Amino acid sequence: MEVYADNAATTKMSGRAVEAMLPYMQEIYANASSLHSAGQRAAEALASARERVAKCLGCLPREIYFTSGGSEADNQAIVSAARWGEKRGKKHIISTAFEHHAVLHTLQALEKQGFEVEYLPVGALGNITAQQVAEAIRPETCLVTVMYANNEIGSVLPIAEIGAVCREQGVLFHTDAVQAVGHLHIDVKAQNIDMLSLSAHKFHGPKGIGALYARSGVVLSNIIEGGAQERGKRAGTENIPAIMGLAAAMEDACANIDKNAAYLTPLRDRLIEGLSKIPHCALNGDPVNRLPGNVSFCFEGIEGESMLLLLDARGISASSGSACTSGSLDPSHVLLAIGRVHEVAHGSLRLSLSEYNTPEEIDYILAAVPEVVEYLRGMSPLWREKMNGEREFIL
Ligand SMILES: *Cc1c(COP(=O)(O)O)cnc(C)c1O
Repeated sequence: MEVYADNAATTKMSGRAVEAMLPYMQEIYANASSLHSAGQRAAEALASARERVAKCLGCLPREIYFTSGGSEADNQAIVSAARWGEKRGKKHIISTAFEHHAVLHTLQALEKQGFEVEYLPVGALGNITAQQVAEAIRPETCLVTVMYANNEIGSVLPIAEIGAVCREQGVLFHTDAVQAVGHLHIDVKAQNIDMLSLSAHKFHGPKGIGALYARSGVVLSNIIEGGAQERGKRAGTENIPAIMGLAAAMEDACANIDKNAAYLTPLRDRLIEGLSKIPHCALNGDPVNRLPGNVSFCFEGIEGESMLLLLDARGISASSGSACTSGSLDPSHVLLAIGRVHEVAHGSLRLSLSEYNTPEEIDYILAAVPEVVEYLRGMSPLWREKMNGEREFIL
């Protein structure tokens, strides 16, 4: 059996998204900036996509800027706020310890340029509170950037509360909502969000396309200079096929949020319940307040990478840590942020589901994982010492 359970890394494109793209490759392929009528047809398609994306977020079409994906949107949002703050002597930024690297590495680059970044500590269930944000805000704070939902452990953050605090204090608020868009209900106006990043390939759209929502009035800086596309804020000929795929996938996902959650949540909870029976393991993230498709565990006494290879041999695609971290030997910064010790953090497994997964696939995973864990523990000298009582268990 082939089971794809790595939907937090990327998703399969939906048939609707593929179909929405096709006409814009060989029929309506003109440059949307061209004055001829072929170009204008492309420009009309672009305008309609922008309108549909805006509708899904509850904002105006002119508040949507298409980017090459979530990473670019994160970079542009954060750099824009920093440049704006710098001019006003505001060089303090608030974020969290468990953001995606697109946010963390952008912040680290700003730290080298003299910005002070405060990384709020994350609680054991993978959450922060609006109160923490309120207490961290200073007169010189130019930006609060907090992710909407965590890509590794699935916890969903109190974005509306944080938005309210930021609005009250007059501080810009950006959220990396790449894991949330199309999966959770979002209304940027009601939630007081000033900037939001999204990416099509996390909701069955194409890769390499995303968007930045920036409330009108927010001053954006360019990170790509050139032509006047995207209201002069993001140069480069628009990738209309990808933009049409994004809009179609987003409309689909946003129209089906409740239906998909109702389907996925029981599958997720069955996985969590079944895997919890494995001795010496722990669920990562909040058991209730989590993304409908996210399952994340730490198993003591094993290496996540070995587990992935053995699961892969059985046809199961999963992940350990984050895709960006794999390949390095450092344990995931997300798992360390929620207080997992290094040894335990190395034994993590993330299974992320989509509506394409079936109940039979869940049964298959539930049969495979305990066997793989037992096999790997059986080969570990460290585990033997723990079993013999020569060493303490952590979990
Ligand atoms: C995937 C992801 C990104 C990066 O998006 P890309 O479109 O792949 O650049 C950023 N943030 C989070 C939370 C993600 O899950």
